[in-house]
Amino acid sequence: MATQASEEAANSTATSAPKSNPYQVAAEQFQRAAAFCGLEQSVRETLSQPKSELIVNFPVRMDSGEYRLFKGYRVQHNNALGPYKGGIRYHPQVHLDEMKALASWMTYKCALHDLPLGGGKGGIKFDPGEFSKGELERITRRFTFELGNNIGPNHDIPAPDMGTNAQTMAWMMDTYLSLGASNERHVNRAVVTGKPLAVGGSRGREAATGQGVVHCIHEWARDKRFDLNGATFTVQGFGNVGSNTAKILARSGSSLIATGDYKGYLYNPDGINPFRLAEHVRQTGSVMGYSGCHEISRKDFFAVQTDILIPAALELEIGDAEARDMHCKVVVEAANGPTDLGAEAILAERQIDVLPDILANSGGVIVSYYEWLQNRRAESWDLEEVEERLSKRMRRTYLAVTEYAIQRKTDLRTAAMCIALERIAATIRERGIFP
Ligand code: NAD
Repeated sequence: MATQASEEAANSTATSAPKSNPYQVAAEQFQRAAAFCGLEQSVRETLSQPKSELIVNFPVRMDSGEYRLFKGYRVQHNNALGPYKGGIRYHPQVHLDEMKALASWMTYKCALHDLPLGGGKGGIKFDPGEFSKGELERITRRFTFELGNNIGPNHDIPAPDMGTNAQTMAWMMDTYLSLGASNERHVNRAVVTGKPLAVGGSRGREAATGQGVVHCIHEWARDKRFDLNGATFTVQGFGNVGSNTAKILARSGSSLIATGDYKGYLYNPDGINPFRLAEHVRQTGSVMGYSGCHEISRKDFFAVQTDILIPAALELEIGDAEARDMHCKVVVEAANGPTDLGAEAILAERQIDVLPDILANSGGVIVSYYEWLQNRRAESWDLEEVEERLSKRMRRTYLAVTEYAIQRKTDLRTAAMCIALERIAATIRERGIFP
């Protein structure tokens, strides 16, 4: 779990222009894809807003003995294909429209991969870096209590996201099980995914999102006949997704030359060892202070000459200015929604490829689905099996998206969205509407 921004640090790493509203961006992406694939009005209407939006304000006792009020969210976008699925974010900037955007992207991500899951997202508006482990546990448990039966292994299944990790999921699971029937504890472990192995987690889940990002980069490189051995890449955000992506991509002979997080940015044209950097982040909470690198500004980070640029932090970090400054061949969206609409148009004009989030960062939800399946079947798969299944599914979907884009002469985001929308539409069409 990454510690979060102090106000001062946040200012030094903030975007130069004000960010767009993420839900408006998500809604516009949806409307564009819906128009492109001729989505029927009934489905368009159904998907245009989440099915439910829950906000809870709940008090928690701090170590000092004082009570503090927290604001938590759970947005359930759509469950036509199966139970809602999506992460829990702890971050000071969490807000309803962010949750709505993230929940809708989860609906499309699951549908794109043909998973029997819908889309949801939740979070608490606070900075986890400012609280003790005991306080974090009480905040998490109280939030889970407030969510009550709004989550459940057959209804809505949370997972880790920014500011949360396997430990957070273990607390959520334990609280949920403690509140439920004692004779159902074993089956209900599937209420969350991304758990530690010891309490029903899956092998390969921790690194799954990064692994999926790297599968997409391999497929892109194969299509473009681009040699990853000797290539360079940069990563914004060095938490779970950013660090695992960097470690796995380094195996192909590519080198990490710039990175950064909520505290600042680093550059080393000779390459940064992602394993040592991850250890430094584990000990200090940030990439800053890692030896042998030059400190650079956020603006310079986006302008670094590199082959592959990987945003793995917050949404809408790539605005017009960043898109104009970039010197890379491909942007791989490890983060959810990192590219604003204007920036996407600039990248297209500059012939910089974009591997869209619902494809690129889907390794996490795929292995979460495998964890859910293992829990329900009382199985425990070995790492090779998880990795093989993930690799097969990522490659199959990547191929489907690129084929759609070529045949229908569109970009990869529209192609991925259209595949997802057509799957959801088929289900809604068959089932109709009650009453
Ligand atoms: P994390 O909390 O482990 O790491 C987040 C990183 O982003 C940290 O290095 C943090 O310092 C950095 N960061 C925070 N604010 C920043 C800012 N203003 N500027 C620059 N860096 C900043 O989170 P994570 O799980 O790695 O998630 C990162 C992104 O990947 C998010 O967009 C998340 O939704 C997405 N994602 C995560 C998963 C998953 O399995 N964890 C799956 C799919 C997508």
